[in-house]
Amino acid sequence: MIKAADALLITAGAGMGVDSGLPDFRGAQGFWQAYPVIAKLGLSFEEMANPAWFEENPALAWAFYGHRLNLYRKTMPHSGFNWLWEIGAGKRGGYFVFTSNVDGHFQKAGFAPERMVECHGSIHHFQCTASCTDEIWDAEGETVNIEESTFRALEPLPRCRNCSALARPNILMFGDGSWLDNRTQAQHRRFAEWLNGLARSSANLAVVELGAGSAIPTVRHTSERVRQSLEGTLIRINPREDSVPSGQIGLALGAVEGIRRISDCAGRGS
Ligand SMILES: [Zn+2]
Repeated sequence: MIKAADALLITAGAGMGVDSGLPDFRGAQGFWQAYPVIAKLGLSFEEMANPAWFEENPALAWAFYGHRLNLYRKTMPHSGFNWLWEIGAGKRGGYFVFTSNVDGHFQKAGFAPERMVECHGSIHHFQCTASCTDEIWDAEGETVNIEESTFRALEPLPRCRNCSALARPNILMFGDGSWLDNRTQAQHRRFAEWLNGLARSSANLAVVELGAGSAIPTVRHTSERVRQSLEGTLIRINPREDSVPSGQIGLALGAVEGIRRISDCAGRGS
């Protein structure tokens, strides 16, 4: 199926990053293991990932997001990213990525920024907490220093380039009414154009989904909807939730192992 495909859609959730060594926030235990100070405060991931903290406790909010920013910057994406890129780049119709991950690891692994939907935004882009304009800027060059023992971000915290109000990551949080979506909307438009092109040329689409859970099902729904509308095939790689609609393929494997196997089938290294 991978060999016969004219185009590759890669969809990914949190499970994609686990094999790079990134923490898994599903379930309180995994989250609190990664952030012991937040465990002491008794806050769940859903409670911590709330824009209200930037107003109520900016040093804590920026400790949480700054720590993640620094972690994602210093972590190398696993080899599975490269193997997927090789498959996708070799297809006549190319590839597209649809991910709920905000870590920027597809771009870091060499995927083209214009072939990507980051449906929950990106930690590598900032916006103003006061929404003075709809500008979203690249956070390259912005640094966040954190006092590890107290888990507080140190001044100076990132500021808006226009009005100097506190900045925040351009990530869709829980209960988030002020997330600026124009960057992500532009990604959605390019994705729709790519899909329209595939439909016009009756391309044979393969969808490879990695580590996307059912708790926040945006990625799973996208894989299934696109596969169905283009009459393609879905390979769902997920160690715990590998059930698929009839006729599709579910592999109960972690991301790297699953990608390695389909990449072997597709003739990697031959
Ligand atoms: Zn501003």
